[in-house]
Amino acid sequence: MSIGLLRVLYQHKIISSEQAEKLRESLEKNPNMMPELFKSGAIDPLKLAIFLSQTFHFPLLDLHNYNQSLLINGILTTDQMRSNRCVPIFKRGSHLFLAVSDPTPIQAYQKLAFTVQLSADLVIVQDNQLNQLLENLDDRSSALMGELGSMSGLSEVSNQVANADEATEEDGPISRFVYKMLSDALNNGASDIHFEFYEEMARVRFRIDGQLKEVARMPLNIRDQVASRIKVMSKMDISEKRVPQDGRIRLQFKSSAKPIDFRVNTLPTLFGEKIVMRILNSDAGMLQVDQLGFEPFQKELLMEAVNLPYGMVLVVGPTGSGKTVTLYTCLNILNTEDINISTAEDPAEINLPGINQVNMNDKQGLTFASALKAFLRQDPDVIMIGEIRDLETADIAIKAASTGHMVFSTLHTNNAPATLSRMLNMGVAPFNIASAVSLIVAQRLARRLCSCKAPMERPPEFALKKAGFNDEDLAKEWTMYRAVGCDRCKGKGYKGRAGIYEVLKITPSVQEIIMNNGNEVDIRRQALKEGFVEMRRAGLLKVMQGVTTLEEVIATTNDNE
Ligand SMILES: [Zn+2]
Repeated sequence: MSIGLLRVLYQHKIISSEQAEKLRESLEKNPNMMPELFKSGAIDPLKLAIFLSQTFHFPLLDLHNYNQSLLINGILTTDQMRSNRCVPIFKRGSHLFLAVSDPTPIQAYQKLAFTVQLSADLVIVQDNQLNQLLENLDDRSSALMGELGSMSGLSEVSNQVANADEATEEDGPISRFVYKMLSDALNNGASDIHFEFYEEMARVRFRIDGQLKEVARMPLNIRDQVASRIKVMSKMDISEKRVPQDGRIRLQFKSSAKPIDFRVNTLPTLFGEKIVMRILNSDAGMLQVDQLGFEPFQKELLMEAVNLPYGMVLVVGPTGSGKTVTLYTCLNILNTEDINISTAEDPAEINLPGINQVNMNDKQGLTFASALKAFLRQDPDVIMIGEIRDLETADIAIKAASTGHMVFSTLHTNNAPATLSRMLNMGVAPFNIASAVSLIVAQRLARRLCSCKAPMERPPEFALKKAGFNDEDLAKEWTMYRAVGCDRCKGKGYKGRAGIYEVLKITPSVQEIIMNNGNEVDIRRQALKEGFVEMRRAGLLKVMQGVTTLEEVIATTNDNE
């Protein structure tokens, strides 16, 4: 019985404020105040059940007339049922129907059902009947993994494992439980799965968006079986329990197009082997540098900078220009087991296994600057900071970049040369910028023409020249396309987007201009001499390649005119 129920009873004038106060006091001594409530004479168990059923629209069940052999054993432990004062009475699909006499702690019931991968539906019963049921519970009927086989929620899972040689080998409840955890982790976008065993409990946690969340509790007596099962699946030595082991599992799930790889490692702990499984696919597959839209010479500059042992790569552009994807693609290139990557973001948008992602929280004082300081104490190799907004963050980032770290970040500027003057304006010392920053990428996203595109006649020369095409371009053979529209692109003529980039390498001569307090114009002039291609020009190349339309390029690169 809960404080929530007290409130409801008081609001409906079933108990007086004096009675409510008295019951609240008794609640502090005994979490079940139902006996006190009935003693007060305010209501009897049957009337309470009817009232709650009508108020909360939950079905009312008379347990006397219920065939108790239908009660489902083995889903919840006796302890769980007694401490939550609920009994599972039947199950349909993923719904677990719980008999309760107090429906107000609904979240506690949901949480409980969630530990067995089900969602709770409540059925109201009379408190005295519930008591009887709880008292008669056979302690030996508490949830044992061996009985989990009767749960259809789990048997559905085994069907999801299409890879027969992995799934059929030992298709018992333990395997089904493990497969269920893996497929749930995938469906929830988790990056890691932790199987943890402690003295008094065992649990499964998922890391989702950088945060660990408990998703299930396991009966303690199955810990060895779960650990052994995972070790068999990942081809580890199951007899070895005293040393950490590493393994891999590849599984085909119905829900995903390609097989999913899991990297598995065990760590012997006091109460069993802790097992961490990392999902290797997740977003990483999308992050291919060749899919971004860099021109070959731009990609070469980017790769060169990313693979430097230290330095700073800045990606700039307006909100929604795809900066995060570009940064993560760079991080993905560097994401190997021997490199420590940390990111501070606001918030983390892409989930990349193997990197430490921290969400900023200004209210709790976790700022980009403070996160950066904390990272530096943890021996990072690569750091990504969501955005450089102030001098403090800029200074720490620059210090990190010039002391052996690779730093990635974004700035809210429109083009690459302007980024350098923005940093100068923030108050960063010219020498520090010149020595730390290795490359600046400015970007926009243009809609990509769908395959239904059609060739079109080129607009007149003066119009093309006004847009930025030069004589050489006009002399060349290339086809301009227009958007058409089909089923694939839902009539829009465009499908997906392509990045348009300007990539500015901080060469020795550009460094010199920065150190001599040169402005944006000087930097741009020098860069152009050294082969820098501006945003508009990069967009026109996309038009000549038939990737997008001239309108689209003009619309997205307008601020460079
Ligand atoms: Zn189309």
